[in-house]
Amino acid sequence: MCGIVGYTGSQDCMPILLRGLGSLAYRGYDSAGVAISDGREIAVVKERGKLKNLEDTLAQRPLVGTAGIGHTRWATHGEPNAVNAHPHVDQNRKLALVHNGIIENYRPLKERLMQEGCAFVSETDTEVVAQLIGSLYQGDPKQAIVEAMRQIKGSFALAILFRDDPGTVYCVCDGSPMVVGSGRTGSFAASDIPALLPYTRKVTFLEKRQMAILRPDGISFYDRDGNPITKTVTRVEWDVEAAKKGNFEHFMLKEIHEQPNALINTIRQYVSERTGFLRESIFPWSTEEAGKLKRIRIVSCGSAYHAGLLGKKFFEHLAKLPTEVEVASEYRYSDALFEPGEPMMLISQSGETADTIAAMRMAKERGQQTVAVCNVIGSTIARECDRTLFTYAGPEIAVAATKSYVTQVAVLYLTALDLAYRRGCMTEQAVRDCLEALHTVPEKMRRVLERQEQVQAYANRHVTARKMFFIGRGLDHALCLEGALKLKEIAYIHTDAYAAGELKHGTIALIEDGSLVVSVATQRDLLPKMASNMEEVRVRGADILAVTNGTGGLGEHCSEQWDFPTVPDMLAPFLAIVPLQLLAYYMGVARGCSIDQPRNLAKSVTVE
Ligand code: GLU
Repeated sequence: MCGIVGYTGSQDCMPILLRGLGSLAYRGYDSAGVAISDGREIAVVKERGKLKNLEDTLAQRPLVGTAGIGHTRWATHGEPNAVNAHPHVDQNRKLALVHNGIIENYRPLKERLMQEGCAFVSETDTEVVAQLIGSLYQGDPKQAIVEAMRQIKGSFALAILFRDDPGTVYCVCDGSPMVVGSGRTGSFAASDIPALLPYTRKVTFLEKRQMAILRPDGISFYDRDGNPITKTVTRVEWDVEAAKKGNFEHFMLKEIHEQPNALINTIRQYVSERTGFLRESIFPWSTEEAGKLKRIRIVSCGSAYHAGLLGKKFFEHLAKLPTEVEVASEYRYSDALFEPGEPMMLISQSGETADTIAAMRMAKERGQQTVAVCNVIGSTIARECDRTLFTYAGPEIAVAATKSYVTQVAVLYLTALDLAYRRGCMTEQAVRDCLEALHTVPEKMRRVLERQEQVQAYANRHVTARKMFFIGRGLDHALCLEGALKLKEIAYIHTDAYAAGELKHGTIALIEDGSLVVSVATQRDLLPKMASNMEEVRVRGADILAVTNGTGGLGEHCSEQWDFPTVPDMLAPFLAIVPLQLLAYYMGVARGCSIDQPRNLAKSVTVE
């Protein structure tokens, strides 16, 4: 779930491990630890809470060595305390390991190991792996790991140090990412690229149950049975600077401001500068296939689910293609029926979302075509799907999705245009008109961003709010769900998002004097309906903020109106989401919340 780093080389490893853990801290964690091999013993230090606690302990009790592993834990099994923190050792301290993910069959394994006389000290599933490898180890680390992997089920990325092999770090993974690379001063491993970027841009992703053995002079790779394999190297094009905060106080604010560029970068990949038209080869379906599609299903979680809801509107409105959208955790345990030939689209920023991965694998087993929308090259979903439509948002560090969401929406919109054209629902000229309008969006988005002080003033005025309602119709309802989620995540405010017409079927009973209502009203056809819904809550005392698409004119129904530059209705989500993100951000700031790492949340949800 959280962060792993590993190093072996010519340098003292502690500063390298701590720096690496620092660059992965954005993922959220509750404890941290390191293990270092000094040539004779493995020393382990771990602390509850922030990395600072670990650093303070290490300052008192420095560990010296040139090979080591480190971890930031996001507890799944056993409370977040120093004993449960990683690294874990086997009972004879022959090895230490760190683990991301969940070992699903840890209980029976633990019972068996205990019967064999193993003494456990923690409540974690991870310690079972340490004890298991320890019990299988007979002088050959690789063999012990291969054997242990045959026995464990679940998701894992592991980095392991052996006492008898002090200069080597062993890495394996399945369902949880692990990336390795060689630099000038040695070999590096991590669960995510930012930790490697200070040392190398050439990285290799481990795939299902593959192993990397890191030595100071290079890295060798093995398949699940321990046979040597060759792997390709990927060059990381983005910069480590892109993963730093720059002048912004928080990553979230930086990423909100990066949205115009993220959008430009994404559009550029899908629309040819030369022809000004959609790049034919990048989209998943040929004209013949597109014409035969009967239905499409989108499966995702969280903000990616909300992007999927917009995708449905685009596919149905533009390409006349019936579309179902489902939350992955529901889908995987449902009786969802599918038509032969019905493709599944899976949306995930990280490409490591556990429930989405499970839905993808179900679809593959049934022979469905799988198409990913994903931000991370080399991630599990990007690798395993038949086709991947990448978003070009760059690294997203803040836990709350912002630029990843906006680029997902862009990819869905472009795919809908491609389908609409191929299915004969739109002429080439109509598609060109839409693309032309889309090209104007980044600049208009910048203009919305310039008005952030207005949002901040509103947030400051309402800092004590305990709950907020979001209402909207059509596309705006999908936007409301995303805006409401942001406020929950970042400002811990109870929010609800409703289809505006649904209010009177129950929720309106909650409206009282001073209730805060955000009315997203960007769809011109629906404006009269929205005006009536706003009036219904206004007369019951609600304090209404309206977000509109250059239409103005709702002033009499609300106490405040944020009217952004006009765009065609279908493109309004790109602009309307910005003030909603800023609202959550400034509410969170005003309430003193932990913006980039909200409580209880992690960046990529790699557990079920
Ligand atoms: N399941 C392990 C634990 O609870 C690993 C959690 C993580 O990925 O950080 O310790």
